[in-house]
Amino acid sequence: MSRSPEPPRRTEIYVGGAWRTPHGDGVLSVEDPFTQQPLPTVPAGDAADVDAAVAAARAAFEPWAALGPAERSAYLGRLHELLTERADALAALVSLELGTPLKISQRVQIGLPLAVLGTYVRLAAEQPPVVTAGNSTVFREPIGVVGAITPWNYPLHQVMAKVAAALAAGCTVVLKPSELTPHIAYALFDAVHAAGFPPGVVNLVPGTGPGVGEAIAGHPDVDMVSFTGSTAVGRRISHLAADRIAKVALELGGKSANVILPGADLAKAVKTGVANAYLNAGQTCTAWTRMLVHHDHHDEAVELAAAAAKSYAMGDPFDSATRLGPLASAAQRDRVRGFIETALAEGARRVTETGGLPETGYFVEPTVLAGVRPDATVAREEVFGPVLSVIPFADDDEAVAIANSTRYGLAGAVWCDDEDRALAVARRMRTGAVDVNGAAFNPVAPFGGYKQSGLGRELGSFGLEEFWETKAVQR
Ligand code: NAD
Repeated sequence: MSRSPEPPRRTEIYVGGAWRTPHGDGVLSVEDPFTQQPLPTVPAGDAADVDAAVAAARAAFEPWAALGPAERSAYLGRLHELLTERADALAALVSLELGTPLKISQRVQIGLPLAVLGTYVRLAAEQPPVVTAGNSTVFREPIGVVGAITPWNYPLHQVMAKVAAALAAGCTVVLKPSELTPHIAYALFDAVHAAGFPPGVVNLVPGTGPGVGEAIAGHPDVDMVSFTGSTAVGRRISHLAADRIAKVALELGGKSANVILPGADLAKAVKTGVANAYLNAGQTCTAWTRMLVHHDHHDEAVELAAAAAKSYAMGDPFDSATRLGPLASAAQRDRVRGFIETALAEGARRVTETGGLPETGYFVEPTVLAGVRPDATVAREEVFGPVLSVIPFADDDEAVAIANSTRYGLAGAVWCDDEDRALAVARRMRTGAVDVNGAAFNPVAPFGGYKQSGLGRELGSFGLEEFWETKAVQR
C-alpha cells in the first residue's frame, strides 16, 4: 500500500461559502506521527475569524431552517456522493495525519462517517415530528447556530456526527476541528464547497482550543456548543456556555469495563476485548480498557490476552501487516508511558513484551497489565493508548460495583452464556451503551455518556433531537 500524497498547504478558512484569508497570520504545525516529519501547515484562526464565521452562520440560519426537508436532504445527499467518490483518498489522509492503519481507516475512520451521513440524508428528508399534548401542538424547531469543536482520534466521524445531524435538523454550523488533524477537515470542506451548500450554512475555522475553541464556546451568538474531547475541556466549555445559558452537548472521556462472567466463551470474549481496547492504538473513547474477569478465570484470561496482544504488529500505517499504528503525538505517547509506569509502581504486573519498537513513530507497545486493583490510577483514568488492565471479581455484584467505580460512564460489554444474566448486569451498569456477547456496533443507536462522560446523545434520531428546540402552541 503506498503512502498518501501530502495534502496541500492551506492558507484560508471557509466562511460564508468561500475560502477566505484569515484575520491573523498564525499557523498550525501538523506532523506525520509515523515518520515524525512535518506535514503542510494550516492557518490558526482567531476570535475575529470566529466572529465572521458566526455572523455568516447567523445570516444563513433562517433561510436554511425554512428550506423543505427534501431540499436539505438533497444537499446532504450530494455531500455523501462526493465523499464516497473520494473515500480511498480520505482514508489515506487520516492514516497519514493520525497514524491509523489504512485498512482500519477505510473501514472505521471513513466508512463510519459515511454511514452516519447516510443516516442523516434519510432523517433530514422526514418532517420533524409534531405531537399533540392536551390543547397544545408541539413543534420541533432547529436550535440555531451550532458551534462544533472536535478531537483528533476519529477526526472525520466526530465532525460528521455533529455537522450532519445539525444540518439535517435545520441548524447552521461553525466547526473547529482538532489542531492535530486539520487536513481531513479541509478535505471535508472541499466536498462541502463542491456540494454547493448555501453560503454560511457550514463554516470552518481551524485553530487552537484557547484561540478559537473558547471564542466559539463563549460567543454570544452561538446557540449551542457541541463538543467532543476530554472531560477537562468539556467542563471549561460548560462554564463558558453557562454565562449565556447556551445549550451544550458533550461527548467526553470513558473508562469502559468489559465484564466477562462465568459461563462466557472466554477465548472469544478476551480476543474481542483486546481488539476493542487496541482499536486505533487504544485512542478510542469507548475502549474497553478494563477487562473484569471472575477470579477462577483471571489467570487464563491474562494468558489469552497476552497471546492476543502479540499479534498486534506495530509499524507503518500503510503496511498491510500493521495492526497497531503510532499514537497521534509525542505528548500522547509520553502520557501513556507515564500511565504504564504509574501502574507498575502501584502493583500491577506487565505480562506483555517490551522493546522492539519501530525506528520512527510515537509507538507504545501493546500492553496487558494483570492483577490491577480497581482503585489503581490506570483503572480509573482514561489512558488513551494500547493498555489493557485485567481486574478480577468474585461475583456479579462485585463486577457491577467495579464497573461503576469510575467517574466515567460511556460504554461497556458483558459476556455470558446466559443472556438474561448478561442483560441484568448490563442494566445495572451506569453507562450509555453496553454490548452483550460481542454484538455489532450500531451507527443509529444513541451514543453518549452517563456521569462525567458527557451530556446528550449523538447518532441516529436521538442525535438529531439534540439540535431541536420544542415549541408548544396552545389553541
Ligand atoms: P481535548 O479536549 O484536548 O480537545 C478537543 C478539542 O477541544 C480540540 O479541538 C481542542 O483544540 C479543543 N479545545 C482544547 N482546549 C479548549 C478550550 N479551552 N476551549 C475550547 N476548546 C478547546 O481532547 P483531545 O486531546 O483532542 O481528544 C482526546 C480526548 O477526547 C480523550 O479524553 C477522549 O476520551 C475524548 N473523546 C471523547 C469522545 C466521545 O465521544 N465521548 C470521542 C473522542 C474523544
